[in-house]
Amino acid sequence: MTRVYVLGAGGPRPTATRFGSSFVLETGGDQIMIDCGPATTHKLVKAGLWPTNVDFLFFTHHHFDHDIDYPCFLLCRWDQSIGKENQLQVYGPKLTEQITHRILDVDEGAFAHDWIARVSHPLSQSVHVNRGGVLPRKPPDVFAKDVGPGKVYSGKNWEVTAAPAEHVEPYLDSLAYRFDTPDGSIVFTGDTQPCDSVKALAKDADVMLCMCWDDQERMGKSEESLGQCGTTEAAKMAQEAGVKKLVLVHQGPHLSEHGHMEKGIGDVKKLYDGELLFSHELMSFEM
Ligand SMILES: [Zn+2]
Repeated sequence: MTRVYVLGAGGPRPTATRFGSSFVLETGGDQIMIDCGPATTHKLVKAGLWPTNVDFLFFTHHHFDHDIDYPCFLLCRWDQSIGKENQLQVYGPKLTEQITHRILDVDEGAFAHDWIARVSHPLSQSVHVNRGGVLPRKPPDVFAKDVGPGKVYSGKNWEVTAAPAEHVEPYLDSLAYRFDTPDGSIVFTGDTQPCDSVKALAKDADVMLCMCWDDQERMGKSEESLGQCGTTEAAKMAQEAGVKKLVLVHQGPHLSEHGHMEKGIGDVKKLYDGELLFSHELMSFEM
């Protein structure tokens, strides 16, 4: 069984129902997180998942609405572990290694004081032992790697390929990911404007989660269509790639309002023949 959990279905502006971007792909017994935006760790638990069961994390890019909960996730996953879990593997564009180092490194990590105190103080040692751990408590151990386009990783029965996305270069690199699983293929576009590289990555995919910020015409008028997709551009990318199911994610506050939402869905359906899902936080669906 392959299941997709939508944890964060928004962008950088917080609203009561959406904030930031994060997803979990569950396939073949592996739980794979894609992006780690605001409050991801809490939303993960709300969705019925658990940090120590997530062994892989892929970043599309390093805007805060996609990575700000990373320190929280790293420390929580480590804190809840009893030393028998798999090592977390983290992949993403340039800065992924540096950010990881700057969070956890014993000398230079902004949050090293937390794990050093928990490793050293008798209170934290007792909590760890009562949870099933043994002393001495091991420091966090994370494998982080900067990656680019091409084959990124092969799991037991899944593999992931990256392609360049077009968002805010040259300030940040962005990647889209395609996961091929026994139950089908799924693409996470991350934040991108329509582009050939993401379209080629998504060719004939079973599912594509595509960012969809707002009504396309409104984005054009407000000069917000550079570097991102709105309704009709998401629809065109999915249609041209031959994607079977399009899941709209990363909706802004305007598109999330009733009225605008229904107009947006109508605009997408005019250009896209496949199955359409307008996602909400904490929903999940089977492939
Ligand atoms: Zn974003």
